[in-house]
Amino acid sequence: AKATGKGDYAWFQFAMEEKADHQRILREELTVALEKHQLSIDYQPIVCTRSGRIICCEALLRWRHPTRGLISPVEFIPIAESSGLIESIGQWVLHTACREAADWPSDIGLAVNLSPRQFTGFGLAADVTRALDQSHLAPNRLELEITESIFLTDSQENVRILNQLKQLGIRIALDDFGTGYSSLAYLSCFSFDKLKIDRSFIKGMTTSPENLAIVRAVIGLGKSFGATVTAEGVETEAELACITREGCDQVQGYLLGKPMAPEILREILIAPVRTKITSVR
Ligand code: C2E
Ligand code: MG
Ligand code: MG
Ligand code: MG
Repeated sequence: AKATGKGDYAWFQFAMEEKADHQRILREELTVALEKHQLSIDYQPIVCTRSGRIICCEALLRWRHPTRGLISPVEFIPIAESSGLIESIGQWVLHTACREAADWPSDIGLAVNLSPRQFTGFGLAADVTRALDQSHLAPNRLELEITESIFLTDSQENVRILNQLKQLGIRIALDDFGTGYSSLAYLSCFSFDKLKIDRSFIKGMTTSPENLAIVRAVIGLGKSFGATVTAEGVETEAELACITREGCDQVQGYLLGKPMAPEILREILIAPVRTKITSVR
């Protein structure tokens, strides 16, 4: 048993070192990914449940690695965050997405994800102003998505920055709502324009009474705050019917449309009769 224990430990140490090596290599490669044009943005439509039409699109970062293929943001965003690269990458996403969205019909909004690290020290509001000015995108078309983790560190300063951003005329959405740290206290610190219900609650909503209760409560909460509520990760017709019945304002998910390259999205957006909810797929 002792030998096995040792072997297990050695294996564990090996696995950890491998992981650390892998992370270090990815970090180095990510440093040049921007210059080498390996980063791009896909856009996923968000659809209004009342009209069945696309109301805005979320920018989702993609890394096309020359040998490893497509690497998920779930894997590389944390590396970008811990290495400080997120500042330049985040800035690139914001400016590029604003420029691409300025080409869409003017009734379509743009949602961009922000990392908490982008709130520290480099003048986020000034940079957002620059991105809007340079792209000529109207501020009321831009929505920034943040997660609950923003309230973990220096929350007073971050609320101050959020208010600065709001004063630019853009909207602020709370992403992945209900996962994270789920203290409702911060809902009273800042008035969010939108709550995005995390996919984990939407999934199983049609089979689990508990999930349905949570979804219902979040929709009620959003409504009483005057916030728009969006359901993330809608994958089936049953989920769409259920979430619509519950009075959710907007839906996003593979059923309505997967994240897609800007050229493809633009074709859909400028089509004479813009595709409705059931045929956006
Ligand atoms: P998120 O902001 O919550 O984005 C939604 C994620 O759910 C996206 O994953 C999207 O492709 C996926 N999704 C949408 N509909 C469905 C569905 O019906 N089923 C399933 N299974 N998944 C669905 P993606 O693109 O892999 O991005 C993952 C996360 O990476 C994002 O979650 C966001 O937190 C982060 N991320 C992506 N782009 C950026 C960025 O530019 N900056 C920052 N800071 N984070 C980003
Ligand atoms: Mg998001
Ligand atoms: Mg989300
Ligand atoms: Mg999510």
